[in-house]
This record gives sequence, structure tokens and C-alpha cells, in this order.
Amino acid sequence: MACSGQKVVLITGCSSGIGLRIAVTLAKDEKMRYKVIATMRDLKKKDKLVEAAGDSFGKTLTLLPLDVCSDESVKQCINNVKDRHIDILINNAGVGLLGPVESISIEEMKQVFETNFFGVVRMIKEVMPDMKKRRSGQIIVMSSVMGLQGVVFNDVYTASKFAMEGFCESMAVQLMKFNIRLSMIEPGPVHTEFETKMMEDVAKMEYPGVDTDTVHYFKDVYLPSSIDIFQAMGQTPEDIARYTKKVIE
Ligand code: NDP
Repeated sequence: MACSGQKVVLITGCSSGIGLRIAVTLAKDEKMRYKVIATMRDLKKKDKLVEAAGDSFGKTLTLLPLDVCSDESVKQCINNVKDRHIDILINNAGVGLLGPVESISIEEMKQVFETNFFGVVRMIKEVMPDMKKRRSGQIIVMSSVMGLQGVVFNDVYTASKFAMEGFCESMAVQLMKFNIRLSMIEPGPVHTEFETKMMEDVAKMEYPGVDTDTVHYFKDVYLPSSIDIFQAMGQTPEDIARYTKKVIE
């Protein structure tokens, strides 16, 4: 149970990368202001998080299973939270998809939208009634610089983040009336497994008609062009976690 004044924060996708680091950063808050519910779709992947959380595990950080692609899992997860009471929801879970569109099936594309777009929509729909009733709450959505600009071979991922940005911009206005704050975070490339794999795949990619310069668009054009927007955020999961903490403080 949360101590008085402690905020209940639920975070999606905490098995690795940015989500893991946000969970640990908030759980280790020096003033113990947060009761963190770190969620992941497969609890067998909990070891890295548990190790990073150290003494906070079982105190300011607890675990729940959650697959954002499943209506049932989302409902069950929120029902497992005491009184369904969540002060801050951090929608972090996401998947990438890289490659020329003609090599990607519609099913694979739908899966990206299922996670990056509908995953967020499901979570917001589920926490909104309680937040509205209490006229208080905060929702964070981990978007991307690719929610602002298209990037070569990331057509579907970019589209999923654009869709989410549109949804959130619309929702924010409705939620404001209930004193619920919706914020989006738009990182540039962050050094996680997600990003490493993407860069490796780009390097391997051979695509007729696309020259090496275009393939290296990531490093040479996209990376520097994102720096203006995100220079305050840095490029490691720790940077993003610190930034996220500032957003909710
Ligand atoms: P990781 O791949 O390290 O982490 C993604 C997390 O999302 C994992 O915990 C993964 O779980 C989880 N996840 C995927 N599908 C589901 C699902 N259906 N239900 C619940 N959890 C799920 O990537 P990052 O930490 O880099 O990415 C986190 C967020 O940041 C994403 O939304 C991404 O789009 C965004 N982002 C990342 C950038 C980067 O360069 N790394 C840049 C900009 C934005 P599992 O282990 O089970 O797969």
C-alpha cells in the first residue's frame, strides 16, 4: 500500500531499456515519493530489473504481468492494482519494425500498431475512469522523434508514432478538463537493445536503388537533426529516465 503522499506509478515494458531504467530511477527516489508498479509481458524476464532495483524491490517497486496488446491482460493488470488507483501511467512499451514496405506483411505492420498505438489507447481507456472520478492524474507517452518526422525504412514504426501523437494531442484537451495531464516524450536515438538492433539491421540492409548515403541517413542526417529537439535529454536510458522524472515532478 502506498504511504501517504506516495504516488502510484504504473510503467509498461519494464523488462529492458528505457522502461526498466525509469522504473528503477523512480523506485530509488531519495524521498521515496513513488510506489512503482513495473510491468512486463513475461515475468521470466524480471531478473535484470530486480537486480537493478536492489533494495527497492518489494518496497517501492513491485511487479505485475502486462501485455499491452491484450484487452484481458490490461484489464487484469489494472484490477490487480489496489482500488485501481494509479496516479501516473507511463506508456513506454513499444516495438520497432525496419525495412522496405514491400518486404513487410500487413500482419507484421498491424502488430506494430497493436503495440505502439492500440497498446497506449487500451491503457489510457482503462485508467481514465478512475482518474476522471478523482479529477487528478498524469499520463506519459513515450513517443519518438519519429513521431515528428519520417525516417527511411521506418515507415510503419513512424506511422504508429504519428498516430499516437495525434490521438494524444486530441485526448490531452479532453483530459485537461479533469485535471489529468497528458505529456509526450520524444527521444532521439537512445542506446538500448531496440536501437542497437535497428542500427545493425540498417548497416546490413541492401536495397536496390538506395545508396549507402541513404542507408546511413540515420547516423549522418537523422541523428544530428534530432539533437536540437532533444539536447536536454541525452542518449542513454538513464538520461531518459531522469528526464521523465523531471516531467512528472
Ligand atoms: P526495448 O526493446 O529495450 O524495450 C521495449 C519494451 O517494450 C520491452 O520491455 C518489451 O518487452 C516491451 N514490450 C513490447 N511489446 C510489448 C507488449 N505487447 N506488452 C508489454 N510490453 C511490451 O526498447 P526501448 O527501451 O528502446 O524502447 C522503449 C520505448 O521508447 C518504445 O516505445 C520506443 O518506441 C521508444 N523509443 C526508443 C528509442 C530508442 O532509440 N531506443 C528512441 C525513441 C523512442 P519484451 O521484453 O517482452 O519484448
